[in-house]
Amino acid sequence: MLFEIEIPTREEFELIDITHLINQKIRESGIKGGIAVIFTRHTTTALFVNENETGLLEDVREFFQSLVPKGKGYKHDRIDRNAHSHLRSIILNPSLAIPIKDGRLLLGTWQSVIFAELDGPRRRKVFIKLCQC
Ligand code: ZN
Repeated sequence: MLFEIEIPTREEFELIDITHLINQKIRESGIKGGIAVIFTRHTTTALFVNENETGLLEDVREFFQSLVPKGKGYKHDRIDRNAHSHLRSIILNPSLAIPIKDGRLLLGTWQSVIFAELDGPRRRKVFIKLCQC
């Protein structure tokens, strides 16, 4: 089963916990056990699993700002001015594969699925493929 969720973002760099949206689709599917593949089709977004804690999410923002600063004379900026967004996306992942158990994502207590907007604000789409196995 393939689901699509729309994520309207409000900031240039924004981290959004989408765990509940994925668990909602798993509930709708009726699948109790299997695997969820979560995928973003954009070149300036990404997905990762980590703790949804305000201070940590601020640390992640600062980490990416210092690791890949904006406007550092990148060649892609000559046509699009968002090379830093692409580069930040490349060091993350466009997809995640997470087991489903008892009708929900098998995440650890402190794990959340975080959608990273790296060049917003925009309307983004995330695809969720659920397989019973
Ligand atoms: Zn670009």
